[in-house]
Amino acid sequence: MADTLTIAISKGRVLQEALPLLAQLGIVPLEDPEQSRRLILQTSQADVRLVLVRAADVPTYVEHGTAELGIAGKDVLLEYECDGLYEPLDLGIARCRMVVAGPKQTRKVRGRARIATKYVRTARAYFADQGEQVEIIRLYGSMEIAPGLGLADRIVDLVDSGRTLAANNLEILETIAEISSRLIVNKAAMKMKGGVIRPFIRRLAEVVRK
Ligand code: ATP
Ligand code: MG
Repeated sequence: MADTLTIAISKGRVLQEALPLLAQLGIVPLEDPEQSRRLILQTSQADVRLVLVRAADVPTYVEHGTAELGIAGKDVLLEYECDGLYEPLDLGIARCRMVVAGPKQTRKVRGRARIATKYVRTARAYFADQGEQVEIIRLYGSMEIAPGLGLADRIVDLVDSGRTLAANNLEILETIAEISSRLIVNKAAMKMKGGVIRPFIRRLAEVVRK
């Protein structure tokens, strides 16, 4: 329908922290998202639905216009380069940092350092910027164990409390970016459905500012 809105969002901490913001706009899922097996949730507003997707898939749904709106971590957006998206609002939720971490006792590395990460693009850009030649090793998770097992010299990962790093004998060496979740908007939808999307952004901005 012309004026319906679909919001793509990932389960877990982003959803948990986004729901109170959406609730302040009067948007409440009709089922408990963490209990339900449904991945498309109707809400208390008949013209707004949520689609629950993997965190890294949120920009894909929004770029293709399947969802007009999405909520995604800046880490995900840094990796996902495209120009079909607007990023009008920092929601200030799911905050953490993207860092370079390494063993507490640094070992001398001969040749190019090996960096294990799932943030391949961001890591490559960061080290290029630093003028350091590295070899990037793509992992999909549990990056923290890579240095201890000898797979990599350092990692690029997200940290919040730092407990996981410490438990794996790693420490933060450098901070690459402060991370929080952002509202993203499909550019074409902004034109076609600006009448509903602009007020949505404005109201959400007010809620975030509080
Ligand atoms: P999946 O678990 O579906 O493979 P994921 O591991 O990226 O994906 P989450 O761990 O729920 O999913 O992370 C989702 C988003 O939450 C991340 O993209 C990031 O923006 C943010 N995030 C990740 N780790 C933390 C953290 N330790 N503290 C705060 N926010 C975080
Ligand atoms: Mg995870």
